[in-house]
Amino acid sequence: MQHYHNFINGKFVPSSGADRIEVTNPSTGQTICTVPDSSQADVDAAVSAAEAAQSGWGKRPAIERAKALRAIAARIREHVEPLARAIAEEQGKVLGLARVEVAFTADYLDYMAEWARRIEGEILESDRPGETIFLFRQPIGVIGGILPWNFPFFLIARKVAPALVTGNTIVIKPSKETPHNAVKFCDLVAETGLPPGVINIVHGRGSSVGMAIATDPRIGMISLTGSVETGSAIMAAAAPNITKVSLELGGKAPAIVMADADMALAVEAVKASRVINSGQVCNCAERVYVQRSVADEFVDKLTAAMKATRFGDPLADESVDYGPLINQAGFRKVDTLVRGAVAAGATLTTGGGRGPGEGGYYYQPTVLTGCRQEMEIIRCEIFGPVIPVVTFDDLDEAIAWANDSDFGLTSSIYTRDLDVALRACREIRFGETYINRENFEAMQGFHAGWRKSGIGGADGKHGLYEFTQTHVVYIARS
Ligand code: NAD
Repeated sequence: MQHYHNFINGKFVPSSGADRIEVTNPSTGQTICTVPDSSQADVDAAVSAAEAAQSGWGKRPAIERAKALRAIAARIREHVEPLARAIAEEQGKVLGLARVEVAFTADYLDYMAEWARRIEGEILESDRPGETIFLFRQPIGVIGGILPWNFPFFLIARKVAPALVTGNTIVIKPSKETPHNAVKFCDLVAETGLPPGVINIVHGRGSSVGMAIATDPRIGMISLTGSVETGSAIMAAAAPNITKVSLELGGKAPAIVMADADMALAVEAVKASRVINSGQVCNCAERVYVQRSVADEFVDKLTAAMKATRFGDPLADESVDYGPLINQAGFRKVDTLVRGAVAAGATLTTGGGRGPGEGGYYYQPTVLTGCRQEMEIIRCEIFGPVIPVVTFDDLDEAIAWANDSDFGLTSSIYTRDLDVALRACREIRFGETYINRENFEAMQGFHAGWRKSGIGGADGKHGLYEFTQTHVVYIARS
């Protein structure tokens, strides 16, 4: 078994702490490798390296920084299969999706590299004769990136690419569930000749390594992707230093299915939303509102589609639709919500409980009807292959229920009526709305949640500028 190290100042270095974290394959329960349970001293060393590297890195022309991102992307494309297998092994993702994640990561690095020649400041009109006012976009300095486990490889790039192209350096903490792919990422980075200290990776727990990053005054921005609870803890930890936070948190995406919807499309998109990554995706449909006149037809078809999905160990059988849940705690949370819904009067039309599979955290594809707005399963993030269905009478009711949530990340509506679609655009209060298509954001969009789903956002121009701070310079006429 391999025992991996942190990646600090361009080298793999042993942690100063003695403890290790075992990484488990959620499909089998077997241990894959270990990573350090890193200490405060390891975080200090990584932040010092990032700080020392930043001034040189930030002074390079952006196009040179972009070349470094492209070099990493090229290395990733040469290693798609081993990277995809590492992701599938530690996260339980099916290989097809893991390959998509790896390819998307390389594309994302290239996409952010394209911004090098497009980072723009402004020249402002002055109130004074002959004065010139410039607004520059400057790097923030050292970024702290804290990652979840559900798209672990892509999320490295979602932090690294905008941070580096805008002249920042970074310290990343991967999830302790999925650190192996991050080690492989560092292997590739080391081959590209990136200056030491520009990218640093420290493994460990949220309560120690995550907190050390969140409280380090040398870090200019903490970019977290994770749960609402962690976002809240990080905001509190960042508060004494007034450190900027950028938070991509949980979701509870509503899908509204109108009576005039293309039923086959709506069923397929909602099913895919629950099956992809075993339902562990922040932007995917987590609750369905279906108009009463088509509710029976929709539920029958969705139930049949969910029943037909196959799950299992993605490395043992490449043809499965989804793999296990990430761990025992994830399994328990899903199962408790399903049992609670049934106890509160919902009906299972399929699934509800553990699926067969030696050692793995497999949950059956599950559909619940007769759900009501006040039920926990409609209000809490499920993060599993489970879809609760609520019936509504008119669009006003559907929009009101969709908006009635602590979360505000993504939403969707299925209708052939343009007026209904446009009304939904105006009245649905979420950062993203998908009309007649599956929930999957584009890298040139802006993935940003409302309410408890986050602060700030990722991707596109707006996500890029999140990693900059403005500097306004007034030049008086001499
Ligand atoms: P999590 O919040 O448990 O952990 C995320 C990261 O934060 C991990 O690296 C963890 O170690 C660290 N962490 C935990 N407690 C911390 C603390 N007190 N201080 C500092 N760091 C701490 O989330 P998870 O279970 O890894 O991921 C699932 C969650 O992520 C879901 O809620 C999902 O919706 C969300 N998510 C959101 C997006 C998005 O783009 N909005 C994308 C993917 C996942």
